[in-house]
Amino acid sequence: MAEGASCHGGRETMQAAARAAGKSDALDRLMADYPRGPHDQPQSMCPAFGSLRVGLRMRRVATILSGSACCVYGLTFTSHFYGARRSVGYVPFNSETLVTGKLFEDIREAVHATAKPDELDAIIVINLCVPTASGVPLDLLPKQIDGVRVIGIDVPGFGVPTHAEAKDVLAGAMLRYARHEAEAGPVARPTSLIEGEPTVALIGELFPADPMGIAALLAPMGLAVAPQTPAREWRDLYAALDCEVAAATHPFYTASVREFATAGRPVVGSGPVGLEGTEAWLQGIGRAAGLPQSRIDIAKARALPAIQTALAAAPIAARITVSGYEGSELLVARLLAEAGAEVPYVGTACPRTEWSEADRAWLAARGTHVQYRASLEQDMAAMTEVRPDLALGTTPLVQRAKEMGIPALYFTNMVSARPLFGPAGAGSMAAIVAAQTRGRERFSRMVSFFEGVGTPDRAGYGFRGKPEEPAGFRDRQRKLRAAKLKADEAVGS
Ligand code: SF4
Repeated sequence: MAEGASCHGGRETMQAAARAAGKSDALDRLMADYPRGPHDQPQSMCPAFGSLRVGLRMRRVATILSGSACCVYGLTFTSHFYGARRSVGYVPFNSETLVTGKLFEDIREAVHATAKPDELDAIIVINLCVPTASGVPLDLLPKQIDGVRVIGIDVPGFGVPTHAEAKDVLAGAMLRYARHEAEAGPVARPTSLIEGEPTVALIGELFPADPMGIAALLAPMGLAVAPQTPAREWRDLYAALDCEVAAATHPFYTASVREFATAGRPVVGSGPVGLEGTEAWLQGIGRAAGLPQSRIDIAKARALPAIQTALAAAPIAARITVSGYEGSELLVARLLAEAGAEVPYVGTACPRTEWSEADRAWLAARGTHVQYRASLEQDMAAMTEVRPDLALGTTPLVQRAKEMGIPALYFTNMVSARPLFGPAGAGSMAAIVAAQTRGRERFSRMVSFFEGVGTPDRAGYGFRGKPEEPAGFRDRQRKLRAAKLKADEAVGS
């Protein structure tokens, strides 16, 4: 493998190295579960952060990273920034331990030292880019040590396109482990289990109030909400698998959906957003649970008037573009459109799956362009063309919007931090949209006041004219970079 290869190196080189090192099956599975898009490298943070976060949010679960120190530094920094409040294990390596296989021995030793059954239910080991490309065989780790389960996963940036999908890599691996345990014999009783109560298992990281809102929607049908996927505790995995119906509210959890389907659970896509979305979702869930139409109608009669009232009380009159990498972008767009917004464009970094198909069709029928696996460039182009009253998007998109004088909101911080489903979701967006769009005139004044200041790259030097570039400098640098890239690609192929 190319020395120093990373997310800045060539994807093909890394994949070829991983295949040569015996990781073909793992890579094929990742390629099938998380198909590529127009861009061949992640455009968000390191994908492994998704898996790391899922493990760190679980009680009695330890996580160990195996990867380059710089990657681990970035990942641990981000996890503590997001309030991990616990240590992340790390097994360092050098060229020698990598090529001799000693790294695997070191990982095994670390796993044995960490496996304390009175403290832990499971240990997660995550192979980052370099150990995956080098074929470090986490599948050869013991499956459990003194009752502590050991789960090793490969989450390379050259195999998993977004950190959203990396959540599914771990969630799916844990569901698979738990399913095999449940199939083999009795398992620990889930704390929240109410015997005989049929449940719906929600798939996706939701705003904390949303599962409660969904529970209220389901109650008239005699259904309760099962523990969520990704789970917060190991035994919750059994309760989730024990559901009557699985609801893929986030549509990119391909591996998790496979486990629910293998356990014989029907899976329903989309989510209870807005009036039409909730109506269709309750119908789908009720049917999948085998309930009579009269019970489903009772649930609809309870939920829909409240949603209608909430939407009417909080109308949105604005043109809005939606872009993000959370997986809930289509649902957010539906909710905005039902509240009266014009939504000409939705871009999601996640792939097209059957679980978002109803939302895609609903939006397309209203003239919305839905872009799966959207690149930042596509999101920017849509915003520039449409000139919305408000752009919802990722950090670089919001930055660009502000430069253009367009009010913008961070999807992750502002949109995902509000209820989305049922009556609570119906009224949640109007106030923030109104507050932002009111600022548009102020934005334009600021843009015209600062026009040309601080841009482009020669700004900020002196005040009597800009320094001139040496003739041919940029051209020479471009050629040097191209030659270096070519040389890097050649190594290891
Ligand atoms: S592990 Fe993440 S940060 Fe490190 S090289 Fe891979 S994608 Fe980049």
